[in-house]
Amino acid sequence: MKVLVIGRGGREHSLIQKLASSTQVESLFAAPGNAGMGEQAVRVQVEETDQEQLVAFAKENGVDLTIIGPENPLLDGLADRFMEAGLKVFGPTQAAALIEGSKHFAKQLMQKYDIPTADYQAFKDAEKAKAYIREQGAPIVVKADGLAAGKGVVVAETVEEACEAVEDMLLEGQFGDASREIVVEEFLQGAEFSLMAFVNGENVYPMVTAQDHKRAYDGDKGPNTGGMGAFAPASHLPWEDYDYAVESILKKTASALVTEGRSFTGILYAGLIQTDAGPKVIEFNARFGDPETQVILPLLTNDLTQVLTDVLDGRNPQLKWFEKACAGVVVASAGYPGSYKKGVRLPEWRKEDAFAIHAGTEDADGGYVTSGGRVLLVGAVATTLDKALNAVYSSLTAFDEHEGFFYRKDIGNSFQTE
Ligand code: ATP
Repeated sequence: MKVLVIGRGGREHSLIQKLASSTQVESLFAAPGNAGMGEQAVRVQVEETDQEQLVAFAKENGVDLTIIGPENPLLDGLADRFMEAGLKVFGPTQAAALIEGSKHFAKQLMQKYDIPTADYQAFKDAEKAKAYIREQGAPIVVKADGLAAGKGVVVAETVEEACEAVEDMLLEGQFGDASREIVVEEFLQGAEFSLMAFVNGENVYPMVTAQDHKRAYDGDKGPNTGGMGAFAPASHLPWEDYDYAVESILKKTASALVTEGRSFTGILYAGLIQTDAGPKVIEFNARFGDPETQVILPLLTNDLTQVLTDVLDGRNPQLKWFEKACAGVVVASAGYPGSYKKGVRLPEWRKEDAFAIHAGTEDADGGYVTSGGRVLLVGAVATTLDKALNAVYSSLTAFDEHEGFFYRKDIGNSFQTE
């Protein structure tokens, strides 16, 4: 089989690594990919947004299956274009991807179908939003309706801070079209975790849970980032909460989307919070999470190509997971998530018992230089989370003395058992 992966981040490199171990894959393409993928895939110089060229490439090269990694192309209707061209594609239609593209839409769906989430109201009018905030009090959460590259959420400690966020979004147009409308939502307390599933219509095949670490610095300090490290499974989560999240959140949502005429095919990702009243939804994504995918796929025993084609063709894949733990720590460019230098050479380093997933790298003279904020994820699989973390951290020492990079030293710390 010929398989094309669209995207250039760590998530897509992780998909390429897993697909490369499939006996069914005869050739792999990545558009546009990153430097780490060069060993296993042919890189195709077409942007994720270039729908016409992507479809043309898939047709001309007899691609049997295309997997769309990032959310923006999905929301622009890339999966629809592939389907219209009669090509097999793994990813939701534009209509189904709206569950990620509009927080108001996602909230309305959850309210209508009784899917557990925070109470909310949506606003286009700043004065009305501020009046609601004064009535509710703080802490309270203000969210831009559309995609805002992970920056569209303000968890406000005070009413003033929340009102300021309302003004920035609705009056100043902080996120352009994405903040023409906002959602103001109840602040929820509890541990967060991520749960993804392979979905086709009503059929939902859940994965193991993962725990992301979004803040830039140790102790969950500093600004939010795309994710600084993760581990799987999130074994501190009780089984009954996992079952509840699968039944009352993922399956209910997939079936609600079918009823709404927006049947979902692809990866449904639920960002969840474990409250005293059980798990509730913080957000939905319409694709594989990053960096969760990098620590979940290494635990999947199945052939990923088989799983994806089974899901698409309406067969029931039996997912099986290694009873192990996987941890991953992101090496970022100094300055990230603010401004940072590009073109910094990566030091020589030995992976030992770890693996490396590339994100922001480019080839340079037989080595690699940085091309993004999140550069690499170094991961390891072991019998316990502690052992996996030890393997990762002992392999990361090469970056310690290098002023161009930083990484969090406490990924998984508060969850270790030994
Ligand atoms: P990303 O792009 O990183 O996935 P996003 O911009 O879509 O994020 P959310 O995931 O909805 O935003 O929120 C970002 C973070 O804000 C959450 O991980 C959580 O820590 C916090 N948050 C969001 N909603 C709530 C809430 N109702 N109560 C408490 N914290 C919240």
